[in-house]
Amino acid sequence: MIKPYPLRFYPIYKEKVWGGTALNKKFGRVLPSASIGESWEVAAHAQGISVVANGPLAGTTLPELMSMYGRALIGTALPDSALVKFPLLLKILDANDYLSVQVHPDDEYAADHESGDPGKWEAWYVIAAEPGAEIIYGLKPGATRESLRKAIADGTLAHCLNRVPVKPGDVFDVPAGTVHALGSGVMVAEIQQNSDTVYRLYDWDRVDAQGKSRPLHIKKALDVIQFAGQKTTPVTGLTIPQPAGQKTVMVANRYFALEILLVEGAVPEATQGERFHLLTCLEGSFALEDDGSGIQLAMEPGDSVLVPACVEMYRLVGTGKVMKCYVPDIRRNIIEPLLSHGYSYPDITKMVAGVGDYRTSYLPLAEA
Ligand code: ZN
Repeated sequence: MIKPYPLRFYPIYKEKVWGGTALNKKFGRVLPSASIGESWEVAAHAQGISVVANGPLAGTTLPELMSMYGRALIGTALPDSALVKFPLLLKILDANDYLSVQVHPDDEYAADHESGDPGKWEAWYVIAAEPGAEIIYGLKPGATRESLRKAIADGTLAHCLNRVPVKPGDVFDVPAGTVHALGSGVMVAEIQQNSDTVYRLYDWDRVDAQGKSRPLHIKKALDVIQFAGQKTTPVTGLTIPQPAGQKTVMVANRYFALEILLVEGAVPEATQGERFHLLTCLEGSFALEDDGSGIQLAMEPGDSVLVPACVEMYRLVGTGKVMKCYVPDIRRNIIEPLLSHGYSYPDITKMVAGVGDYRTSYLPLAEA
């Protein structure tokens, strides 16, 4: 059997009322229409299945790879559930217009109200933003379930929404329960739980070419909105120097970690057999070198690669900026490396979005 190697996939394009052609303009991609809103880069979901584009496994789907290779692909440290359902979904979104104002449920609510898909925690890296571009991110202070219900009925919801200007390089953490919408002229790389569950609060009174509006889900949306602690600013992250570059840990929760790597030379990376990595080239260009398979993959902005867990060691060689996402062991992959580089536990929970989620279970380590 062929040993799995760093894998590229064909993008899966999704037409959206808010889509455009920025993926062509920015990355030279050949698009099937002029209103492409999403490119699913690595996906194993009923709504989109990635197919390998490089090497001897070309033509194989991601679910086929999962059943052929199991933990060699996924990793020895991930839960059994990850063998059945690929845990993450990686996309690039081009918002040529506002997306619907939406919110996602958590796993518990999704289990009770949806058939199959889990909840959705997501995070965005802003690849491009036109001057003046903004997003809807959270609610204005003081919003309550009752005030929101009334604003929806009165048609004044827009007054309750927190608008944030965005610029390239910003990272936003979007836990389940966060009201959000990308705005016009914003392109993001998005990592998320492998789910397509969305509850729309408002869709700007839009209709499609057939005059049909998309469904709203106001009751479910109001059920799942987290009114306390809605986030209102981008994530800062914490930086660790690396040989030939640096790594900034931006988001780390029970589902995924999002790190930004600056590469200046040859940066060693290790999956250690424990967990797969998803890499997206954001800026510059470099080669991903895997001595085991002898593969050298050139990566340009917008390109994504799945590094199977069994690759164990690889290098990123060149100059550029990379988004690295994976399913973390929060203690070993996030907290311990940051503590050993001099950051305090309060710094970590404050600056790295999502880690606060782990406060209870990690307190003994923090206080040690
Ligand atoms: Zn969303």
